[in-house]
Amino acid sequence: MSFVEFENVSLRYSEGGPKAIEDVSLQIEEGEFVAVVGPSGCGKSTLMKLISGLKPPSEGYVYVNGRQVGGPLSIVGMAFQAANLLPWRTTLENVMLPMEIVEPYRGQLRARRKEFEEMAREQLKRVGLGGFEDKYPWELSGGMQQRASICRALIHKPRLLMLDEPFGALDAFTREELWCMLRDLWQQQPFTVILVTHDLREAVFLADTVYVMSKRPGRILVKRQIDLPRP
Ligand code: ADP
Ligand code: ADP
Repeated sequence: MSFVEFENVSLRYSEGGPKAIEDVSLQIEEGEFVAVVGPSGCGKSTLMKLISGLKPPSEGYVYVNGRQVGGPLSIVGMAFQAANLLPWRTTLENVMLPMEIVEPYRGQLRARRKEFEEMAREQLKRVGLGGFEDKYPWELSGGMQQRASICRALIHKPRLLMLDEPFGALDAFTREELWCMLRDLWQQQPFTVILVTHDLREAVFLADTVYVMSKRPGRILVKRQIDLPRP
């Protein structure tokens, strides 16, 4: 079985309502970098909710790591279009948030604070935020906030990183900087990535596999392997 598998999955947000996605089947291998592209409303976020266990499918099956998804998963890290940093916390404190919430770290912060802080500082260096640990979100640029947000998504060493339009609010130059950062992180650390975007260039630049979705109801139109030489 693949790391992530959808078997003929459909989802209706309400009984008798329209299907947000219909008959979606896919297989994602561990370590793969997958992009999901398609127009607004085609069901990309819905796909993410199904994988992260925030929504059960109305029909079909969703498996992650060999198990049917039955609730929130601690092996998942997530980042979104808005960085969603807590404004009253410093960069370091924001990045450490998953250590307070996610198993197996939860409840150990008091005893292992030094160690966790060290992990957070290391990870911040990897995303180019060394020296910014004590800054507040409003002291960081949009690109830096998004770096911190991705850093936070990775701090608990998730096996699956889910990104929903993470670079959508950034200018073109910053966006390409962050593409390279993400690609580097993925090459250094083994994790699977599912990136939702409506930027085709982004999908092709970053991903090994691109799924293209169509709207009403959301279906997978095509799956393409991208076989480009990487910089
Ligand atoms: P995106 O294009 O980034 O997915 P949307 O504007 O489609 O953002 O959705 C923003 C939020 O509103 C999402 O959490 C989505 O689940 C929710 N949402 C979208 N459409 C509806 C709807 N018809 N009814 C209720 N909630 C919705
Ligand atoms: P995308 O992320 O590709 O923009 P979504 O997954 O957010 O698409 O939405 C897919 C469809 O499901 C859209 O028609 C949207 O309006 C609908 N939808 C999304 N979230 C909700 C919700 N919470 N309640 C009702 N309908 C929703």
